[in-house]
Amino acid sequence: MPGRKARRGQRKVSRQGGAGQTPNSKSGWRKSLYQTKAARSKLVSGGCFLVRARRVCRRRYDPRMASPRGIVLHPHPVLRAKARPVEKIDDFVRGLVDDMRRVAHELDGIGIAAPQLGESLRIFLTCGRENDPERVYINPRLELSGTPDLCDEGCLSLPEIRAEILRPTVVRITAQDIEGREFTLESSEFMGRVWQHEFDHLEGVLIIDRMRPLDRLANRRAIRDLERSAEGRRR
Ligand SMILES: [Zn+2]
Repeated sequence: MPGRKARRGQRKVSRQGGAGQTPNSKSGWRKSLYQTKAARSKLVSGGCFLVRARRVCRRRYDPRMASPRGIVLHPHPVLRAKARPVEKIDDFVRGLVDDMRRVAHELDGIGIAAPQLGESLRIFLTCGRENDPERVYINPRLELSGTPDLCDEGCLSLPEIRAEILRPTVVRITAQDIEGREFTLESSEFMGRVWQHEFDHLEGVLIIDRMRPLDRLANRRAIRDLERSAEGRRR
């Protein structure tokens, strides 16, 4: 059972009918969220990373890969649509969540949203790491506060692209789980950033919309390559 200090960053506010675990400490988040097998040796202590080692991206991403139920890459139009609310949690939704879980694990992702699998529905999933349980968020709502902070982010739908993104640091999320039970969580740690990143996908927003001009310049080649490979797919 985590101690008081460990519960400081993210605390469970309420969860009806669920018995989720409380997340662990700030250092625990960093350990669990950023240390992918390939990137572990490259971490800089004190840094904030939502990225994968470039060589992992090169090896695992196929620019021709798209839905059904594979990862959808920029500039696929489904990534730009405002996703529809989930009205009923049925076999279709459960199957979609299974696919999201599978793809997130295959690509070693921290989180994944339904539009990234070509389904314009308001669902995202965060992957379990060490003491942090996997969670499904259906029809999520966010309340944001706190001084905005910069942190490095990447995206499964934008391989090879990374940038420091400015986001509020205190996040409260209310959503339904896969059983339809509503829960609320708060985070002033990295998971709050993951929620905002995944929520952006439900609004049709990508990190390339939020990046600063200098980062856009630094990533222009990777963005152009993605868009060109999409043109190639359409031919
Ligand atoms: Zn993303």
